Amino acid sequence: AKESGHNYFQFYVASIDREIRERKQLEKDLSVALNSHQFHLVYQPQINLETRRIIGAEALIRWQHPEKGLIPPDDFIPVSEMNGSIVEIGQWVLDQACRQAARWASDGMPLRIAVNLSAVQLRQDSIVDDILDTLERHNIPAGRLELEVTETSFMTNLEEAVDKLKRLRRAGISIAVDDFGTGYSSLTYLKRMPVQHLKIDKQFIRDLLVNEEDTRIANTIIDLGKSLNLSVVAEGVETAEQEYYLAQRGCQLAQGYFFSKPLKPHDFERFVASFHDN
Ligand code: C2E
Ligand code: CA
Ligand code: CA
Ligand code: CA
Repeated sequence: AKESGHNYFQFYVASIDREIRERKQLEKDLSVALNSHQFHLVYQPQINLETRRIIGAEALIRWQHPEKGLIPPDDFIPVSEMNGSIVEIGQWVLDQACRQAARWASDGMPLRIAVNLSAVQLRQDSIVDDILDTLERHNIPAGRLELEVTETSFMTNLEEAVDKLKRLRRAGISIAVDDFGTGYSSLTYLKRMPVQHLKIDKQFIRDLLVNEEDTRIANTIIDLGKSLNLSVVAEGVETAEQEYYLAQRGCQLAQGYFFSKPLKPHDFERFVASFHDN
């Protein structure tokens, strides 16, 4: 027993050791990814459920690793938040998304673009100026940008977050609370934050109409939106039944595989054209 315990311990240490090495390698690869042009953005259409028009797109980052292939953002965004590289990566995302929005506008497609803003980015002193400068550089009206922030962004320094989001809001940028309901939701935040949209996390949409609890949570968020005069976006809509339910329940906006996966710019343009033809 003593022998096998010893072996288990060695095995355990070896696996932690491997994890640390892999993590270090990931950070190293991440540090050159931006300058080696390994990132690109994909765009997922956001649909108004009443008019059935595409009103905008959420920009989502993709990392094409030279050896490992496509690495999902959930595998590297948290790492880049921990080592601070998200500040530079996030600025690149914003710049790229605004450049795309400007192109689409000049092609007669003035869509709103939603960009995920990490809590780490929001903590930067220069963040408000950086965002406004980027809009100006690309000649994008502030009303065409939406920033998606999670509830954790509000927690670290509430006063500072309120102040920055208010400045962004005053400039005309809209703010959405992302992953709503998964974090430490507090009605106090909602009351104090200058937000216009709530995004129901896809974990509550997946089993909508199958799991009663999820259905109730989605209903509650939609009702909360109504009473606070915030529009509600459902993410992760995958079926016609989900769309139908959300639309008749009064959820205004939706995105999800039922309409489209996140797409590269060219495919996105074709999708918009064919969607509005039907
Ligand atoms: P999120 O912001 O909550 O984005 C929604 C995620 O759901 C995206 O995953 C999207 O591709 C996926 N999705 C969309 N429709 C469906 C559907 O119908 N079914 C299912 N199962 N999934 C759907 P993705 O692109 O892998 O991104 C994961 C997370 O990584 C995002 O979650 C966001 O938190 C983060 N992320 C992605 N891009 C960026 C970025 O540019 N900056 C920052 N800070 N975070 C990002
Ligand atoms: Ca998001
Ligand atoms: Ca989410
Ligand atoms: Ca998220």
